[in-house]
Amino acid sequence: MSGPEQTTRTVVELQRNADGELKRLAPVVDELGELFADAGHELAVVGGPVRDAMLGRPHTDLDFATSARPDDTERLLAAWGDATWDMGRDFGTIGCRKGDWTVEVTTYRSEAYDAASRKPTVDFGDTLEGDLGRRDFTVNAMAVRLPGRVVEDPYGGVVDLAQGVLRTPGRPEDSFSDDPLRMLRAARFAAQLGFDVAPEVVAAMTAMAERIEIISAERIRDELVKLISASYPRRGLALLVETGLAQRVLPELPALALERDEHHRHKDVYEHTLTVLEQSIDLEDRLGGGPDFISRFAALMHDVGKPRTRKFLDDGSVTFHHHDVVGAKITRKRMQALRFSKDEIDAVTKLVELHLRFHGYGSGEWTDSAVRRYVRDAGDQLARLHVLTRADCTTRNRNKAERLRRTYDDLEARIERLQEQEELDAIRPDLDGNQIMELLGIGPGREVGQAYNFLLELRLDRGPMSPEEAEAALREWWAGRS
Ligand code: ATP
Ligand code: MG
Repeated sequence: MSGPEQTTRTVVELQRNADGELKRLAPVVDELGELFADAGHELAVVGGPVRDAMLGRPHTDLDFATSARPDDTERLLAAWGDATWDMGRDFGTIGCRKGDWTVEVTTYRSEAYDAASRKPTVDFGDTLEGDLGRRDFTVNAMAVRLPGRVVEDPYGGVVDLAQGVLRTPGRPEDSFSDDPLRMLRAARFAAQLGFDVAPEVVAAMTAMAERIEIISAERIRDELVKLISASYPRRGLALLVETGLAQRVLPELPALALERDEHHRHKDVYEHTLTVLEQSIDLEDRLGGGPDFISRFAALMHDVGKPRTRKFLDDGSVTFHHHDVVGAKITRKRMQALRFSKDEIDAVTKLVELHLRFHGYGSGEWTDSAVRRYVRDAGDQLARLHVLTRADCTTRNRNKAERLRRTYDDLEARIERLQEQEELDAIRPDLDGNQIMELLGIGPGREVGQAYNFLLELRLDRGPMSPEEAEAALREWWAGRS
């Protein structure tokens, strides 16, 4: 995978981008600007859309800040858009949709950092400058006043954007003590934008890492998902590890930086993991394109069972027996703690658990039955398992890498052939529960389930059977039961 894009741009370039993008947005933003101005309120585009306009990345979701209070905002938006909603009146945000556009308008907040009380506040404010001053990073603390489209950049965000640096508008210590989640947001934006984080910000993140503990699991999860789904996740992850934040939010990751044994016989699992993550990203178009969080997170977690299963042998070699099973358990626990959904947890856990299975394939000695089981066990994660297994090869030995790739090609081709013959994804026994009960002359109960499982195993071993063959096998099994 390539490194971050060239992150230095000129300020002129950024302004030219912004002008172009604002022209495109004019029909929406100028109209809204007039509407609020006529009612005696200020309105400005703020944050992400301004930053991304300068970077030449178009948005259809627009964030605005206003001097209007939420009730006034709602009235004005209701008259203008197709639908409005209230996403948290207490925080001052009203959402609105009009055609393809989604807008969120938030009442100015006042400078939240109160040195006296040291308590975060969500008081409404009266000035745009005040509102910008309590935002996370200078590149996010720019606005375009409407109508008229006047850029406001009180904290030098354009220069930081041009240089590709994340800096806080005020002292980072104050900002992070207001909202420790901003420390994770620094890593997230580093990963999304490919930017550096200013040294004083890294220092504050390091000094204040333990403050992240007061943030809810859900907010932490959402930032981690964005970070991992970004273009340069290695940047964000390395920063989390370097600052000690990872130790608090995803301790399995820094734990992979195992000390090498004295013989230097095994690779650094942490470095290997980041490479596997990047290689799996390179294979993502196999999954329908676009960032695939499940696939990426499985890559990140696939070896987390290694530190706990490591054993040194007398000959100086190292083993990690059952690190797949142990890793799957660790993964499940972590994802539960981060409040992921059951489906997400099941998917990632399954991938971690199966990531080694292919290595029993040797040079293609698996029976059809073993191939069927691989497909059945992977279930709806099969495409991702292909990606993970292929990505999990970081050997420098070109011949070996090429051999593994070809062997996997072979396995995929076999799966496809079998799938055509048998529709493997829908493997069921050749007889269903009703047929079993009729043939054996029994009613519903435990034995029907046992017979069903027997036929399913047989089906996996042998492939499809005719109804006569299945019936004969079933009768034989039934007669042989004591
Ligand atoms: P995206 O929506 O693509 O994730 P974004 O830059 O719009 O990126 P959001 O999380 O939607 O980021 O936040 C919108 C804006 O609100 C940010 O640009 C930033 O100015 C401000 N902001 C959001 N969360 C915080 C926070 N925790 N502390 C300070 N400012 C914040
Ligand atoms: Mg946003």
